[in-house]
Amino acid sequence: MNNMVTLYHRKEDCCGCTACANICPGGAIVMQPDEEGFLYPRINADLCVDCGACLAVCPLQNPVQLRDRLAEPEVYALKHKSDNIRMTSASGGAFTALSDAVLNDNQPAAVYGAAFDKDNNFAVAHQRASTKEERDGFKGSKYVQSDLGRIFQAVRQDLSQDMTVYFTGTPCQAAGLYNYLTKIGRGRDLTEKLILTDLVCHGVASPRLWQDHIRQIREKYQSQLLDYTFRNKEQGWRGYNVRATFANKACAVNTKEIKGFAGIYRSCLAMRPACYECRFANLNRPSDITIGDFWGIEKSHPELDDNKGVSLVIVNTAKGQSLFTQCKDSIDYWPGNTQDCLQPNLQRSTARPAGRQLFWTRYQAKGFAHVARRISPVTIKGLMGRARRALRRFFGKKQ
Ligand SMILES: Cc1cc2nc3c(=O)[nH]c(=O)nc-3n(C[C@H](O)[C@H](O)[C@H](O)COP(=O)(O)OP(=O)(O)OC[C@H]3O[C@@H](n4cnc5c(N)ncnc54)[C@H](O)[C@@H]3O)c2cc1C
Ligand code: SF4
Ligand code: SF4
Ligand code: SF4
Repeated sequence: MNNMVTLYHRKEDCCGCTACANICPGGAIVMQPDEEGFLYPRINADLCVDCGACLAVCPLQNPVQLRDRLAEPEVYALKHKSDNIRMTSASGGAFTALSDAVLNDNQPAAVYGAAFDKDNNFAVAHQRASTKEERDGFKGSKYVQSDLGRIFQAVRQDLSQDMTVYFTGTPCQAAGLYNYLTKIGRGRDLTEKLILTDLVCHGVASPRLWQDHIRQIREKYQSQLLDYTFRNKEQGWRGYNVRATFANKACAVNTKEIKGFAGIYRSCLAMRPACYECRFANLNRPSDITIGDFWGIEKSHPELDDNKGVSLVIVNTAKGQSLFTQCKDSIDYWPGNTQDCLQPNLQRSTARPAGRQLFWTRYQAKGFAHVARRISPVTIKGLMGRARRALRRFFGKKQ
């Protein structure tokens, strides 16, 4: 057996981007879930030929050097002109406008993004789309780490066939893909027709807890789940209202069970360890265009705030400028500056909560329902319900 490479020493040093597994010439690396459900690379020493490619491609060890970076990023507030698109997008519909521009361009093109796999318990995974109908599956934020599988190899194949590829994902996914393509090309520039969009990123939660949550709500509503959205806007953009629709016509919005996973996400207790030391929580983005929510719009441009969602768009490269220009007919936009949009995750990573270890110990011992119950937010309705039950118990005993 040879001296096997060590990819990382601490879990904080692996974001799970899959670049190493995709580049390994001997197929020695597989991504396997740990006890929290996050995928990490495992090396089969018998297949490793000590080439070092996996270390060379890792975006946490080799920061991305994008070409044609603008000296200063351009910042915009953006609203899609279609209210329907805005209402069905997490923010202002920037993703649909940008991906439409790619798909409308009369060139062979593919869009990559994160979708629910409805046949696999709503697991979140990256997929490829070549039509707008397929692309629509990527709309909406899924606050779970998406499984990239062998997507990097599919992107490489599209680019090798001279197609335009529009890849969207978290910054660490975009960075891993870029490093993979620059190393695998061996002299051929595979990134010429690649356009990268990354998200402003608060962190990703555990796919294992997500699967538990989906099983729990299917049992509760005794029906097949048809649709799920983390950011239902019927009650406004800011509320993080969660909605699930079932085959038996049940439709649940913000019930205790439906909100269970969102509560865990917001508590930050179940994020991937790398998210607490994120290398991408700044303005040095590994992408052509960064998109997010324009939090703070009510202060910088109050006239734009209709509580239906405004996108933040940060154009980082010349390629990004060109795509932004192409989508201008479908959007309303206003120039801003980096001070207006400097939300926490553009300045620092999400902090690791003190109770994280205890949370996972409890989960391993008592399961999902137990930890979700303990975290579920205290609402006025919930408090009134508890008070009513206590009064009923009290007066019941007196009779
Ligand atoms: C895990 C996560 C954390 C985020 N944190 C912040 C934040 O702190 N601040 C902020 O301003 N914005 C954050 N966002 C981005 C924001 O929620 C919107 O996704 C973004 O503004 C795009 O909205 P849209 O209206 O343009 O389009 P939408 O149609 O809502 O766009 C969806 C886009 O998000 C991608 N996507 C969805 N889920 C995932 C996933 N799990 N992994 C990778 N890509 C995914 C899709 O591929 C698609 O490109 C986060 C998004 C995610 C998924
Ligand atoms: S050193 Fe080369 S062969 Fe070994 S695991 Fe890394 S990429 Fe694969
Ligand atoms: S390349 Fe990606 S998956 Fe592999 S060790 Fe680095 S961060 Fe982890
Ligand atoms: S917070 Fe950082 S490490 Fe975590 S998913 Fe987002 S970009 Fe990747």
